[in-house]
Amino acid sequence: MKVVVTRKLPDSILHQLREEHEVMMWKHENEVMPRDLLLEEVKDADALLTNLTDDINVELYEHAPNLKVVSTMAVGYDNIDIEEARKRGIKVGHTPGVLTDATADLTFALILACGRGLVGAMDVIRKDEWKSWGPFYLTGPEVSGATIGIIGMGRIGEAVAKRAAGFSMNILYHNRSRKKEAEATLGATYVSMEELLQKSDYVVLLAPSTPETNKMIGREQFDQMKKTAIFINTSRGTNVDEEALYDVLSNQQIYAAGLDVFEQEPISANHPLMSLSNVTALPHIGSAAIDTRMKMAQMAADHIVEGLAGRNLSHEVKRKG
Ligand code: NAP
Repeated sequence: MKVVVTRKLPDSILHQLREEHEVMMWKHENEVMPRDLLLEEVKDADALLTNLTDDINVELYEHAPNLKVVSTMAVGYDNIDIEEARKRGIKVGHTPGVLTDATADLTFALILACGRGLVGAMDVIRKDEWKSWGPFYLTGPEVSGATIGIIGMGRIGEAVAKRAAGFSMNILYHNRSRKKEAEATLGATYVSMEELLQKSDYVVLLAPSTPETNKMIGREQFDQMKKTAIFINTSRGTNVDEEALYDVLSNQQIYAAGLDVFEQEPISANHPLMSLSNVTALPHIGSAAIDTRMKMAQMAADHIVEGLAGRNLSHEVKRKG
């Protein structure tokens, strides 16, 4: 059977797939497979190994009458029309769990970078402006002992809470459902969205991108945050109203933001948020640790082997959201 792989992956990952199937792999690791080529190649494909930059929608399904498995190298699957896949009997796999720690690490890196102003502090040296130690020179808010509010206390949210506990932070969280086990093991407190926004020094967004979470943090939510609040988003850019975020950062209604994700990716250096010194921005590298990416790629390849053998996928997306 034919498998289309939309990014260049290491040979060691594709070994079993190649033994059992015909593999067409896009030649570039860091370049999106052109849409025209993808639509041409899926015409006779049985499976697709994809990632968050490919739009897996009705148009693609229409071009791929034989498609049986879509396997994404990501935990988020907002770029895949799950309902349409289900109607067509196409199994969809994703990679939960293996990227949890790496993404939590990166989230915490943004918390520390924003709180302690690491990027701006390094710029001082680069610009040769470091003249002396000063009692309040380049001081920022505390991280240890501060209150963190996690919106979306799932796998990654809990891993962030675990790290926060190590920093003696007061942990608040909000989900649609309570997680009593996390409350007991991590000392986290379940609060309403309003209470979380009002009390948190660090507001961390880790909910998936769904129709319900679209722009869930906007003007109304920023208005409830402290003037000293730091907003961290390592979930998806579509969960935030970027115009409102720009406004509250530029008029210093909140203190700073740490962003790994954006509404339209990639962003350019001309993006309005890049003009603000209280923004720390990263190019969607939440899970970008080598072992993690190898595990994600292997898991995604394994799902195709499973699906094409007529077995259930180890990590199948069953529903949207
Ligand atoms: P997860 O285990 O499914 O956790 C998501 C959490 O969000 C759940 O606890 C869920 O709880 C909560 N949630 C869902 N809808 C919500 C809503 N409307 N309001 C409040 N909370 C809501 O997923 P995960 O593995 O932790 O991953 C979370 C997200 O992180 C992914 O979907 C992905 O978009 C993003 N991510 C980003 C990167 C990166 O590179 N930056 C890497 C990995 C993942 P309830 O169902 O109880 O509400």
